[in-house]
Amino acid sequence: MNPDVIVIGGGAAGLMCALVAGRRGRRVRVLEHADRVGKKILMSGGGRCNFTNLDVGPDNYLSANPHFAKSALARYTPWDFIALVEKHAIAYHEKERGQLFCDVSSKLIVRMLLDECTEAGVEVRTGCDIGEVTRSDAGFHLRTSQGAMDCASLVVASGGLSIPRMGATGFGYDLARQFGHAVRPTRAGLVPLTLSGKHLEDYADLAGVAVPEVEARSERRAFRAGLLFTHRGLSGPAILQVSSYWEPGEAVHIDYLPERDAVDWLATQRREHPDRELKTLLAEALPKRLAQRLCDLDFGHRPLRRLSDPELSRIGQRLHDWPIVASGSEGYRTAEVTLGGIDTDGLSSKTMMSKSIPGLYAIGEAVDVTGWLGGYNFQWAWSCGNAAGVAV
Ligand SMILES: Cc1cc2nc3c(=O)[nH]c(=O)nc-3n(C[C@H](O)[C@H](O)[C@H](O)COP(=O)(O)OP(=O)(O)OC[C@H]3O[C@@H](n4cnc5c(N)ncnc54)[C@H](O)[C@@H]3O)c2cc1C
Repeated sequence: MNPDVIVIGGGAAGLMCALVAGRRGRRVRVLEHADRVGKKILMSGGGRCNFTNLDVGPDNYLSANPHFAKSALARYTPWDFIALVEKHAIAYHEKERGQLFCDVSSKLIVRMLLDECTEAGVEVRTGCDIGEVTRSDAGFHLRTSQGAMDCASLVVASGGLSIPRMGATGFGYDLARQFGHAVRPTRAGLVPLTLSGKHLEDYADLAGVAVPEVEARSERRAFRAGLLFTHRGLSGPAILQVSSYWEPGEAVHIDYLPERDAVDWLATQRREHPDRELKTLLAEALPKRLAQRLCDLDFGHRPLRRLSDPELSRIGQRLHDWPIVASGSEGYRTAEVTLGGIDTDGLSSKTMMSKSIPGLYAIGEAVDVTGWLGGYNFQWAWSCGNAAGVAV
């Protein structure tokens, strides 16, 4: 028998939409082309799934329409998802900055979603390739590797382009375009940045050096978190965050000492320890190899007493604003998310339904709403999945 609702994509948003719609008595079928559902959930948060953030708000998202996410986020909050996690007795903890992780494994989140789907009578089919999708009297007609199917409501939940080896495709964008929807340009987000030429030469041998807290700034946004040098460029949470706001060829400005006034600190140290080498002092606040490199590249090698007031002031300011020009990013191969996607102008923010094609819905990362690092992307998936689930 044909279902009422077909959800294309068994990821975070698709499974949430399916279980909510199933609980309402809708006959729901999830079609997933990979051999199992929820692969990104499984690999997320280092295997422990950072499933939400306690401080979620529309400001934590990038979209051409910054208001679009408000309605769905307000109607299904982190507390709603936490209640589901607690109902399934999944132990979790707050790591930092409101980020909630499973104590044991991401597998428990996938298990929970599948158990809820089973209880709600949702049929989940894996290994199902979808071919042509057309409109029909009933709503939509799909040709698939598991036969032809019809449904009244069709939900596009096929995600973005990041991590193609996990099953990511541009299917959702193509389908949206086929039905007349605009798709905003996509690019990799939450992704390590790469350096080239002289910029790479300057830093490549620092690969593995980590600074626990810096402030990384692009022209549009600043984030305070860890920085990691890699053999190709820059990574760590501060860089991943800023990458979503960065444009190719732009410098990322690093404040290496966001917690202190570097000019004051240097002046005090010069007074109290005039014979101390600058690099030795910097190595108290930064990894030794990085301190040495900053001196090699710019500050020079000398004892503090040989720094004039203007030099000391310049070095202090530079420690708060060290520009590194990134040439590119590692791209979809390692990106956690895809920026851009199905234009929100064509969708209802309340129901996620198409404004032009009744019965067609789009949710999750396929839509032009992208969260920061820290559980915001899953919360968007749960919230908009719920919004569509109560409407289909
Ligand atoms: C390594 C990594 C770690 C991450 N960690 C976190 C984290 O800890 N916290 C957080 O909030 N976010 C995290 N994210 C982001 C998060 O995983 C995504 O934002 C989220 O999964 C998006 O949900 P979705 O349902 O829209 O898409 P997805 O979860 O990607 O699901 C889409 C599904 O559709 C399927 N599909 C694709 N094309 C087709 C097709 N043609 N036919 C049928 N099925 C198809 C895919 O196989 C997939 O199962 C991480 C991402 C990555 C890559």
